[in-house]
Amino acid sequence: MQKIPFLDLKESYLELKTELDAAFQCVMNSGWYIQGEELRAFESEFADYCDVKYCIGVGNGLDALHLILRAMDIGAGDEVIVPSNTFIATWLAVSYAGATPVPVEPDETTYNIDPTRIEAAITEKTKAIMPVHLYGQPADMDPIMKIAARYRLKVIEDAAQAHGARYKGKRTGGLGDMAGFSFYPGKNLGAFGDGGAVTTNDSMIAERVRQLRNYGSQIKYSHDIKGFNSRLDELQAAFLRVKLRHLDEWNGRRRKIADQYLEELLAYDYLTLPQVPPWAEPVWHIFVVRTLKRDRLQKHLADCGIQTLIHYPVPPHRQGAYHEFTNLNLPVSEMIHKTVLSLPMGPAMDASHVQCVCRALEKYNE
Ligand SMILES: *Cc1c(COP(=O)(O)O)cnc(C)c1O
Repeated sequence: MQKIPFLDLKESYLELKTELDAAFQCVMNSGWYIQGEELRAFESEFADYCDVKYCIGVGNGLDALHLILRAMDIGAGDEVIVPSNTFIATWLAVSYAGATPVPVEPDETTYNIDPTRIEAAITEKTKAIMPVHLYGQPADMDPIMKIAARYRLKVIEDAAQAHGARYKGKRTGGLGDMAGFSFYPGKNLGAFGDGGAVTTNDSMIAERVRQLRNYGSQIKYSHDIKGFNSRLDELQAAFLRVKLRHLDEWNGRRRKIADQYLEELLAYDYLTLPQVPPWAEPVWHIFVVRTLKRDRLQKHLADCGIQTLIHYPVPPHRQGAYHEFTNLNLPVSEMIHKTVLSLPMGPAMDASHVQCVCRALEKYNE
């Protein structure tokens, strides 16, 4: 029986082994491992890629979002609007800054924050809206930016799952006022360890994030603000430079896999398939189907040697970390968390793997 992993990171390493090993040797031989040439080069290349003026490499995606909020002086007493269905890091970034996350329900066809529900969540304390481009599909940014302008709020994209995705032709990372990216190994642009970045066209925010990531220092041993230690190291920056050159091609492979899934699974009416609005060019970080028989289906696929995951089994407001939110009524989010299943997806998969997953889903249907 052919085993199909959810995501094969080793296979992706082997494909680029020559380039990655050379990058490793180059950094090791340089004798310089933090805040050097590789980081500067990556920041400039990733800023160009996202079509923004500034990119600041940081320690991880959570820090990227957290440092943006700190740079904006958002903290105690402030509120930030977040999607109710997201990876908990989106909420944690807000909590970490000392502010309060205010969840807004998603649109159940795109899984992204529903712009028509945002206005009702705005109060005098609201400072920012933090949409997530969930599963690699851009959120509907135009109405979000309009609401933000009307209430003088800033928009921070959580782009951790959407490197290279486009909204009306424009790349994520440059759609809002600032954006946070994660380079966690499993992300579309993944490092070989932790990593993250902030992108923005705002020179003041860029400057402050640069300072905050490095002990609040701009000049060595001079500390004007209480900063953090959150840096993207030279090795990870060098690896990311290699992988950035392949990102569009690898996202293209994901698109092909998604197209094949969408075509083959269309006939299986027990599955709700992802929907792509005409203005979205998703990068398919995760391919999510929905079914009421989710748990049984996951077991059936596991019996067929197919690994699936759930993004996410428990919504943030039902986690122990947010016990004070437990009584919130968020039915769309809860329905989504009970029914979603993520099928294998990644640049190392080919058409025969997808076929194998689809056959297993077909057998279950009978
Ligand atoms: C991965 C992820 C993060 C956090 O990134 P880390 O690098 O793991 O800290 C934040 N938000 C979303 C939506 C993510 O998927």
